[in-house]
Amino acid sequence: MTTSNRRRPETAQWLKASNSITQQFLAFGGRADVVSLAGGLPAAELYPIEAIGEAARRALETLGAAALEYGAVEGFLPLRRLIAERMAAETGGAFTAANVLLTSGSMQALDLIGKVLIDPGDLIVAQAPTYLGALDAWRPRRPAYLPLDWQAQDVETLARAKFAYAVPNYSNPTGVLVPQDRRAALLDKVRAAGTWLVEDDPYLTMQLDGPPGPSILARDVARSRGAYDGSVIYLGTVSKSLVPGLRVGWVVAAAGMIQSLALAKQATDLSSSMFTQAVALDLLERDVDRRHSASIVPVYRERRDALVSEAALRLSEWFEWEVPPGGMFVWMRSKDRAIDTDELYRFAVEEKVAFVPSSVFDFTGEDRYAMRVNFTRSSPEVIREGVRRLGRAIDTYASSRPQLGRRAGPNSRR
Ligand code: PMP
Repeated sequence: MTTSNRRRPETAQWLKASNSITQQFLAFGGRADVVSLAGGLPAAELYPIEAIGEAARRALETLGAAALEYGAVEGFLPLRRLIAERMAAETGGAFTAANVLLTSGSMQALDLIGKVLIDPGDLIVAQAPTYLGALDAWRPRRPAYLPLDWQAQDVETLARAKFAYAVPNYSNPTGVLVPQDRRAALLDKVRAAGTWLVEDDPYLTMQLDGPPGPSILARDVARSRGAYDGSVIYLGTVSKSLVPGLRVGWVVAAAGMIQSLALAKQATDLSSSMFTQAVALDLLERDVDRRHSASIVPVYRERRDALVSEAALRLSEWFEWEVPPGGMFVWMRSKDRAIDTDELYRFAVEEKVAFVPSSVFDFTGEDRYAMRVNFTRSSPEVIREGVRRLGRAIDTYASSRPQLGRRAGPNSRR
């Protein structure tokens, strides 16, 4: 056999625009000797393993082989109905299963939205900084981006956009809770522009300082009559309220949009796992998710407080932040842009601590002056150790940059 010395075809163009730092921090964060403040993961030791085991057994007993078949592309009908009922109860709107598509996590919903709405060059008006997974999901579609201005967004720009994208409850990466008046203003403008609004809400249940108030979907419902046919495409998931490994999420939207998304989903995976949808149905019917969320919130509050109190001691000379009222992250911005967090990351690796640098959340890739720090995955002690390591990494970074001045801070080894 002769081997051809011709070159194999190149990968598609979008892959070249992709960011390898994501893979790096995921791989690095998985190492046992590393304190990872990088990922967006819940605390694994709190997962309701027993309840999930019982739900799995019941699902198999009740459904038998049907729990192990391919499912309907739109999702397991009883679970779609349950999500519609919950949504109706939460918002006062008229939702039915026709308004619900079940997905393999919200991540798949983002991917399907890209497939259904974005042609190359189409505009997305996105809350900035933007959830990295959304940027990743839409990159192959080659959209253009403009930042969403919650205060003074102009309707003309929205009218040119395929959709606006926002995470109003405890945004990823900033932890920001968008105030109700800004949500109302954005909805008005989206409606005036006649475009879509993707409201991504995975952190809804992670309310550390009280409830966040109505979703934008709920506000839109209040203005519609009859079956929901509005502008909001709402994304939910069990990843934070239960566990990410079930990979069960949902889209709630106008029935026509659900049909388009289902067509896209058919070509992606035929259907989400029937088995985990059946397990999720059993858990949600018994309100296991609600009880579980209520039990983990105090644990996460303590972890958040550990992070910000240690950071106040070790990092406040160089970084500033607001304490997030929920979610999983503290967004730390470098004072006076003194510290480039892409560079700092390399020093952090040396100290065996990981965070996520801001550049990956910026559609221009230019914001290199902030970092996302997670507080849910590790115990307060480990978080404190991670912050101490981060402090040392900053000291080493700063002393390698004479222009930053040499300060013997609280983190020096001596
Ligand atoms: N949207 C946002 C804003 C997220 O932070 C995440 C998870 N980190 C997702 C979507 C994806 O969640 P899922 O596990 O449901 O795919």
